[in-house]
Amino acid sequence: MSGTDMKLVVVGAAGRMGQTLIRTIHAMKGVTVFAAVERPGSPFVGRDAGELAGLGPTGVTITDKPLEAFVEAEGVLDFTSPAGTVEFAGLAAQARIVHVIGTTGCSADDDARIKAAARHARIVKSGNMSLGVNLLGVLTQQAAKALGPDDWDIEVLEMHHKHKVDAPSGTALLLGQAAARGRGIDLADHSVRVRDGHTGPRAAGSIGFATLRGGSVIGEHSVILAGEGEQVTLSHSATDRGIFARGAVTAALWARDKKPGFYTMLDVLGLN
Ligand code: NAD
Repeated sequence: MSGTDMKLVVVGAAGRMGQTLIRTIHAMKGVTVFAAVERPGSPFVGRDAGELAGLGPTGVTITDKPLEAFVEAEGVLDFTSPAGTVEFAGLAAQARIVHVIGTTGCSADDDARIKAAARHARIVKSGNMSLGVNLLGVLTQQAAKALGPDDWDIEVLEMHHKHKVDAPSGTALLLGQAAARGRGIDLADHSVRVRDGHTGPRAAGSIGFATLRGGSVIGEHSVILAGEGEQVTLSHSATDRGIFARGAVTAALWARDKKPGFYTMLDVLGLN
């Protein structure tokens, strides 16, 4: 560690993404794991975060006291749960630090509270932190604009591992939002998130979602634009959680010298 390394706290340090973040920060220049946090009652509190992540002991003991860690740190990387993320946004605002949020499944009320915290914290939130998916979003927006709703139907298909608890995925919703932007419509008014039984024919201009769950799939997404006699498919496959972790660290470094506010990965990657 050098004196200028950005001091980062990993919350949800025992989770799939938490462990990936610990390994990724360890391997990247310019950043250091300053603290690791888990929820109160977690059996991993008191364990060495590096050891849990497969690195061997690193001297960072997992704690359940986030504010004590935040006030001494410069940034928080958060892939936890909506309730945890809302709490951490408030604490990041108190500590006036960077808060990178990868957590998905947040409600509109959760998002409003996170945006309120962005008056004092520098928040970067995205349903997907990878360069590839954010580029796919830009391409989806262009395709949805070029291929209009009278002749082209848009469906977003996703598959994830069997442990995932929210649906459709944050990435599927990100891609649906991009398609809606391209069409100049509000996704909430046009999305069809589930189909079952006698649904009648497809409503023109709607954006459909289909969700598959199983095995250990890290993340598969396709945006299908279906026309009469032809079909365009834009897709992304994640084969390593490291892409999300590297994106989150890149976001923290980017936000380090920014003003308090609410940002997305499109800002970080210069795709906005
Ligand atoms: P996981 O269940 O393996 O890990 C979540 C961890 O967070 C657990 O260890 C849990 O104990 C901890 N946690 C939950 N609430 C907490 C709290 N209040 N305080 C402290 N710790 C808390 O899940 P995962 O697969 O690592 O995914 C976590 C989240 O990240 C999900 O919402 C997932 O959809 C999202 N995700 C986002 C991206 C992205 O690029 N944006 C990529 C992958 C996963």
